[in-house]
Amino acid sequence: MASTWKNWAGNEIAHPTSIESPRSEEEVVSIVRSAADRGEKVKIPGSGHSFTPAAVTDGRMVRINALSGIYSIDRSRMEVRVGAGTTLSDLNRLLAAEGLAMANLGDIAYQTVAGAISTSTHGTGVALPGLAAQVTAMRMVDGHGNLVECNSEKNSEILDVARVSVGALGAITECTIRVVDAFRLHAHEQPMRLDDVLDNIDELRLSNDHFEFFWIPHTKWALTKRNNRTDEALDPLPKVRGWIEKTFMENFAFGAVCKVGKMRPALIPRLATALPSSGARTYINDSYKIFASPRLVKFYEMEHALPAASLAPALREIRAMVEKKGYLLNFPVEVRFTGPDDVPLSTGYQRESAYIAVHVYKGMEYGPFFKDVEDILRRYDARPHWGKVHHREKDELSTLYPRFNDFLSMRDRLDPQRTFSNRYTERIFGA
Ligand SMILES: Cc1cc2nc3c(=O)[nH]c(=O)nc-3n(C[C@H](O)[C@H](O)[C@H](O)COP(=O)(O)OP(=O)(O)OC[C@H]3O[C@@H](n4cnc5c(N)ncnc54)[C@H](O)[C@@H]3O)c2cc1C
Repeated sequence: MASTWKNWAGNEIAHPTSIESPRSEEEVVSIVRSAADRGEKVKIPGSGHSFTPAAVTDGRMVRINALSGIYSIDRSRMEVRVGAGTTLSDLNRLLAAEGLAMANLGDIAYQTVAGAISTSTHGTGVALPGLAAQVTAMRMVDGHGNLVECNSEKNSEILDVARVSVGALGAITECTIRVVDAFRLHAHEQPMRLDDVLDNIDELRLSNDHFEFFWIPHTKWALTKRNNRTDEALDPLPKVRGWIEKTFMENFAFGAVCKVGKMRPALIPRLATALPSSGARTYINDSYKIFASPRLVKFYEMEHALPAASLAPALREIRAMVEKKGYLLNFPVEVRFTGPDDVPLSTGYQRESAYIAVHVYKGMEYGPFFKDVEDILRRYDARPHWGKVHHREKDELSTLYPRFNDFLSMRDRLDPQRTFSNRYTERIFGA
């Protein structure tokens, strides 16, 4: 019986021939072998939080949520071995119980470990690359149905490229990830004028462990967030105030404002002035509780990584384009930073990056706005996030990644029959 699957945002729907839930790695091997024998396609979704059709398939969808949890901890190397289907929120909780933590995270924790690394998921912090750069070993079932362990000593050339693979090399079953001792963050959130942020961007991004900001379109304002490591005692937002400010204001109240804007777009610029007026606030909490928050308002997102030095001119161009074209935007534009890494298909490969993310409330048209933003960012050598809406294809992508061909060669070696392909991998890597 045909099944239906859709991603978190609801903009990608799949009709797989089956949805299977293997309980063990051996079952994953047997599914992949039988699919390869019959010439069927296989796709492993994570939590479906990509906005691209990365996890879509009209073949066999294989959910590996059962491959979950921490399998072992090596404290001398500060590494943990985890099931690839572990969600980041579960991992955070399990690590915290061991006095450990991830060095950095994105702004949600619903993703699975394999899903997050496969699309080059990142957080913010100039000294910190994305999550895939923390992976020191992994095991996967390749397109031949073989279990392949790769680490720095064995099959290191596979590990090298497989850390960001957009699901195109095989089914990842286990990952070894570098971790750090649990730590607390001092969070300081403060509205600033966007021009002041951009004029001082180097100082802001370099002098904070984790700096990001949200520019509110139709206003002069940006909400800045500075998160810095601290040894000070916990001082979280009080429970009720925390719920009101984090869950209610950032989700329910914001969702209501978005709904009004969707019904009456002409009100959006006036509604936007309400957003940055929340004033400054400071609190201290465990790192993972500050990095990630609930996201209950649904939206579509496009995000690109560009050389950090290009951020200010690129964002000013986007602002001018929005004004000129009269787009009515009810979601902030998010800007983050990462350090360089050595993962061939990482959006941060070998460069200090700034990320510009644009969002549109679910149900509203995003195509023309995203295309206009993408056209601007193209001129800044921007690399699209593999899990967020973009319109790039193989030929153009190959010019953005110096080691693109190494990835393609590894794909030919591990999955010559293209058991793990779908329409997205065909678009970005070729058939
Ligand atoms: C609300 C929201 C907030 C977000 N915040 C951030 C952020 O802060 N930073 C950021 O960089 N991104 C962010 N993202 C994007 C998100 O991190 C990525 O799209 C991520 O890939 C989603 O993980 P997932 O587990 O849902 O994977 P899916 O979207 O389900 O899958 C992603 C890809 O991974 C592959 N895959 C998954 N599991 C396996 C496996 N076991 N073996 C092989 N391939 C596999 C899939 O086939 C697919 O190609 C956000 C997305 C949303 C919706």
